[in-house]
Amino acid sequence: MDAGPTPSSVLIAGGGPAGMMLGYLLARAGIEVTVLEKHGDFLRDFRGDTVHPSTLEVLYELGLVERFLTRRHDRIERATGSVGGEAVTIADLTHLPVHCPFIALMPQWDFLDFLADEARQFRAFHLEMNAEAVDVIEEGGDVRGLQVRCGGASATLDARLAGLVIAADGRSSVIRDRAGLTRDIEEIGTPIDVLWMRLPKPAAGVSIPLGNVVAGRIFIALNRGDYYQCAFVIAKGGFDEIRARGLPAFRDEIVRVAPNLADSVGELTDWDQVKLLTVKIDRLTRWHRPGLLAIGDAAHAMSPIGGIGINLAIQDAVAAANRLIPVLRRGPASNADLAAVQKRREWPTRVTQSFQAFAQNQIIQRVLERTEPITGAPWPLRLLTRVPLLQRLPARFLGLGVRPEHPVSPAP
Ligand SMILES: Cc1cc2nc3c(=O)[nH]c(=O)nc-3n(C[C@H](O)[C@H](O)[C@H](O)COP(=O)(O)OP(=O)(O)OC[C@H]3O[C@@H](n4cnc5c(N)ncnc54)[C@H](O)[C@@H]3O)c2cc1C
Repeated sequence: MDAGPTPSSVLIAGGGPAGMMLGYLLARAGIEVTVLEKHGDFLRDFRGDTVHPSTLEVLYELGLVERFLTRRHDRIERATGSVGGEAVTIADLTHLPVHCPFIALMPQWDFLDFLADEARQFRAFHLEMNAEAVDVIEEGGDVRGLQVRCGGASATLDARLAGLVIAADGRSSVIRDRAGLTRDIEEIGTPIDVLWMRLPKPAAGVSIPLGNVVAGRIFIALNRGDYYQCAFVIAKGGFDEIRARGLPAFRDEIVRVAPNLADSVGELTDWDQVKLLTVKIDRLTRWHRPGLLAIGDAAHAMSPIGGIGINLAIQDAVAAANRLIPVLRRGPASNADLAAVQKRREWPTRVTQSFQAFAQNQIIQRVLERTEPITGAPWPLRLLTRVPLLQRLPARFLGLGVRPEHPVSPAP
């Protein structure tokens, strides 16, 4: 494995949205970069699918959006749902001041494949699949490289001489841990977990709203072409109880919240088809130490609420590239440079996580605990639905996020 021959080269642990976008941007600017991805492909079901307008705008600014949109995807222009059987619209994205005012629903593996294909056009880009970063290599207190296990072999090899190591290995980041950054972490509790499963589409012409809410149940259906990728939100730790009630009872629960799936749930015949995804929200107090910077979920694990974690990870990557490319062209990045990236991204992270914490504690938990039927949407949702102008505000937050970033480095 070529781990980068120059002192200003960059090693990125993790080929998720944060790692791949940063890898793309650095390589585009001519900085030698190696992305290490522990899996052999990007093909895992439990990745989010939502590419928001802020990310589409980044792709536009990089000249990639046209090619991106030729890949199979669906579009959400309005965030709609059903609350107690009443149709609601929460956000209207069509007025956003961007080139693509919609959410593109694309399986994340296609998005990552796309970024990898585009990045491979640059000689400075290297992607190592089946390469798991297992530890940091330190010299004189600075992080200088990574220990990497390749192809599942127990032997590790040292990838040294990195001018900078990036921890982009997600919410269970080993690298942030091995680098000692998790000694100081803010855990923001979350009362929910998610059951994740595929269901076939019902008969033609029958559609399922994106969000479905009844007393005790929240169900999200992401349109993935010929099937729905479904998220059944449960109270944290509640999966054992649901399993104990048996699959027929679980199928009934789904139909109660999404009646149009009555003909589809029969496909669920084994608990192996249902994956438990543990949700957490946390953030590092310090995202960096000399020679190492954490971005994306490795710096701040995001809940699925709002489907904004991918986009926040992309924004981190853009901010890091903007700050670090001019520096790395001259030599290694200083601790002050890394601190500047955290300073820029910490506030958007706090605001976004606060929104997620509020939504999960004040809305979702209450719905999950509720036993009396919900007979219709609460008045704020009714108001939003009836006054389309109001839908522009949540659209802005959802679609563009807080402090959207724009790539500034010139094309090669
Ligand atoms: C149930 C659930 C559903 C979600 N749905 C959505 C959604 O619809 N939309 C949305 O925007 N966000 C969603 N999120 C949040 C979103 O998944 C994350 O915020 C986002 O993926 C973070 O991107 P990342 O690149 O930082 O990390 P990740 O996407 O987690 O990528 C990390 C990558 O690093 C690799 N890796 C891990 N360890 C190592 C290692 N040691 N060495 C090398 N590689 C390693 C992993 O295989 C992975 O490819 C969801 C979260 C959950 C829990």
